[in-house]
Amino acid sequence: MKGLEQKAIAYIREKHKYFKAKGYSFVVAFSGGKDSLVLLDLVNKALSPDEFYVIFSNTGMELSCTLEAIEKAKKHWSTLRFFEAQSHMAPNESWDEFGIPGRRLRWCCSVHKSVPTILKMREITGDYDVQTVVFDGIRAEESASRAQYSDISVGAKNINQVNCSPILEWGSSELFIYLLYNNILFNRGYRKGFFRMGCKVCPLSSNWWDSLANNIYTSEIKELFNKVEEYSSNSKPQRERKDFVEEGGWKARMGGRYLPNGGNRFSERIEDNTLYFNFSLKKQNWLDVSPILGPIVEKADNSYTQIINKQEFSFKIEDNDMSISYFPYSLMDRFVISHLRGIANKVAYCIGCKACMVQCPVDAFVIDNEKQIHIREEKCLHCSNCIEFTKGKGCLVAKSLSTTGGYGMDLKGMNRYQPFLRLDPIWVKRQANSVF
Ligand code: SF4
Ligand code: SF4
Repeated sequence: MKGLEQKAIAYIREKHKYFKAKGYSFVVAFSGGKDSLVLLDLVNKALSPDEFYVIFSNTGMELSCTLEAIEKAKKHWSTLRFFEAQSHMAPNESWDEFGIPGRRLRWCCSVHKSVPTILKMREITGDYDVQTVVFDGIRAEESASRAQYSDISVGAKNINQVNCSPILEWGSSELFIYLLYNNILFNRGYRKGFFRMGCKVCPLSSNWWDSLANNIYTSEIKELFNKVEEYSSNSKPQRERKDFVEEGGWKARMGGRYLPNGGNRFSERIEDNTLYFNFSLKKQNWLDVSPILGPIVEKADNSYTQIINKQEFSFKIEDNDMSISYFPYSLMDRFVISHLRGIANKVAYCIGCKACMVQCPVDAFVIDNEKQIHIREEKCLHCSNCIEFTKGKGCLVAKSLSTTGGYGMDLKGMNRYQPFLRLDPIWVKRQANSVF
């Protein structure tokens, strides 16, 4: 145990020394679970309090036991600089706008965790370009995909961010032994039977987690769980609904079908060497968003000339801004076409979640108080970071709501037939009332 501890402390000091020389700031990503409790204690032993910040990303979806643990941690490490980061969108609002999250549609991690943390770091340091090393509590044991992670990743979440994982190789039992040996507070949730802590309703949770949360924190999970049930009632016949919810079939949602605001909002066609986008619903103006691709150099009535990748294109805005056409199609390579689609997706779906904003290296991507996009043309580098980070559609909402897949299409994992467990009610009652 001591060997593991010393190795982790040496790792933290080494990374700190290396990145400090390059001008980086340091953050511990704190969530109140066992991993981050151990991580915080290790960083606290390795560095002095003025050398790092502690940021708790309050998703608004934490169980009360986690919020309690955060408050206890602030008292336990009273010399550390704790901050709380929170999205401008409440979970209720984001779940309605994006649709319930799915295993392959985890918009919630960006919107409620990584984006608020990046914005908080900029606010704390007063530096838009702040380069940050985030010490996180990622562990290989947690999942097959995490087992492939390296202990350090550069730019995976944001261009200015390096993630370091000092406890990547630690096992759960080692974490608990560390917490007990060092007399560090416990998140009460572990006493109730949880192996890991997480959001109230999560597409990655196990059936054990769901069953416990459903029995012990019934009232806390109700509001979000109602949205799962609502989705189930829209997408499944009555006889299948209960199983669909309890077996976790909802976690495989792949597209916007059966969501009130789901579906495709524009169509594409190519005619006379011209690419047309015809919108049925729009959230943004083409002229506000399209400067991402390149400068608009001429305007005459509703016709414009735009330079994209050193190539001149003309475009027209017609039909009350609901039809956009770009010419000539013959000069468009696959990047121009996919970036034009990215703009169309932003125009059709953007609700101002700010995920694009934090990807911009020069503060050119602005979302105003009315949730409208504006591009500061004098700053924009046309680098397309704000399109490419979604690895597909150019907008997280478009990815979640357009109908490119169907619910239940990707349910191949081990949770396919894992209904809520029938827990012994006497045991559940004892766990719910446990104190320590
Ligand atoms: S990320 Fe910023 S600089 Fe790059 S294209 Fe988007 S708005 Fe422009
Ligand atoms: S365009 Fe960007 S900021 Fe707007 S909703 Fe989509 S991902 Fe969020």
